[in-house]
Amino acid sequence: MTPPRARVLRWTLASALLWLALLACREVPEPHPEAPQLPAATNLLMLVSDTLRADALSCYGGEAVTPAICSLAERGTLFEVAYSAAPWTLPSAVTLFTGAPPGRYQRPGDPGRGTENLYRVPGQEVLLAEVLAERGWLVQRRVENGVAAQGNSLQGFADTRYSAARAREARARWGRELAFEAEDPRYDRVWWLLERLLESPEPQQPFFYLHWLQDPHAAYRPPDHLQRRLEFGPRRLPQDLDFYLGLGHRNRPEKGRRKIREVGPDLSPAELELVRDLYLREVESVDERVGAILSALERSGRLDDTLVLFTSDHGEALGEHGNFLHGVSLQEELVRIPILLAGPGVPPGTRVRTPVAHRDVVPTLAAAVGVAQSALTTADGGRDLRELANSPELQPPMAVHLSSPDRLQEEAIVLGDLKLIARSDQSVSLYDLAQDPGEAQDLASSRPEETERLLQLLRRARADSRPVVRGDEDAAELERAARETEQELRAIGYID
Ligand SMILES: [Zn+2]
Repeated sequence: MTPPRARVLRWTLASALLWLALLACREVPEPHPEAPQLPAATNLLMLVSDTLRADALSCYGGEAVTPAICSLAERGTLFEVAYSAAPWTLPSAVTLFTGAPPGRYQRPGDPGRGTENLYRVPGQEVLLAEVLAERGWLVQRRVENGVAAQGNSLQGFADTRYSAARAREARARWGRELAFEAEDPRYDRVWWLLERLLESPEPQQPFFYLHWLQDPHAAYRPPDHLQRRLEFGPRRLPQDLDFYLGLGHRNRPEKGRRKIREVGPDLSPAELELVRDLYLREVESVDERVGAILSALERSGRLDDTLVLFTSDHGEALGEHGNFLHGVSLQEELVRIPILLAGPGVPPGTRVRTPVAHRDVVPTLAAAVGVAQSALTTADGGRDLRELANSPELQPPMAVHLSSPDRLQEEAIVLGDLKLIARSDQSVSLYDLAQDPGEAQDLASSRPEETERLLQLLRRARADSRPVVRGDEDAAELERAARETEQELRAIGYID
């Protein structure tokens, strides 16, 4: 039991925090006069791992062995409580690359094609990648999940063309040196970046590289060398290993693939444990790829002047709240993602407990390379995470808004330890995440004042998320976007 005085103090602090946040909610404060001037970065390296829950990583208390990703926490700062804007790829990517809430770019889709709503960032918006490309930077990307590109938020990045044959050649040349020799098509997909780093041009041009890894997105099929850690034999499960390796978004029994949303509720605890183990081993395979990238960056001699950001686009339900996969709720397992930052101006070995969000990513990257927020047309509600890491005491609390207006009839707001979920049927739930991280105990009726204050924050965030149209969209463009998005969603198994 918490002593009564401590509880009163906590209440008082929580109450003061709420009022402060009401004043400060996503209205970005002027830099504090005492805030230190931070050194600039020359290059940016952004790594995104699709569907990676923060609590899988060892430095977030998880069971996956992830020394490479977690080395960023030693060399830089780990944000313990970080949120994506939405629980699935498309709206999440919109916020990650614009710094704006996804609702601003929501557009009508085509229900006949399985896309009731789309996200479309108009071409005339000015994004960070475009500004840097204009300034002569090498701005290149490979995004393995085609859905992430469907919001048109990757404007400014040149898509790399890199053949499998070239990847094999690069692996033969540098694989041993990087201890990265696995013959796996998924591993081969990062070789474009390894080669760029290892053969950086002279004179050195500043770069902004983005690599978006598809893993650990379902199906959870870790590479063979990591499957060996599973000890499948002694588990004595009712199906053979291929059955569990085939669980994912698709339902094609003839090909050994089953939809985990259909099969999941009937899995035994031992089977569920195997599914979680498969997911964790796939996370370890992501770590091996990140390790190779960081190693190549170090060999390039550009480690010290490169700001590295590692994150994920959303989490994954592995049976929590009866759910599997993602996109189905705003509960913690679907929106808590890692954010790790290392490089110029980032304090090493630091852990930040203040909740942060993907909306802070673009302002952070922009500030690090000297691009004023006023040069960007979309990033208006985030803050520089380097400043937060250096002087958390100078930063006012900021609420985090979660939504997926295309799919969910609910929105959420997080402030400190409190999280409020409001549904379209007017029902609300309030959770104290410090006491109840599994969101099992609804406190809305027992703490009405805090519930009302968070509802006020939510109304503000909602007003900030209204669709904006910049005037260059036409029906043919949206029709083409709907068609392309349908193809991508079908390819990944989201539409049958
Ligand atoms: Zn995703």
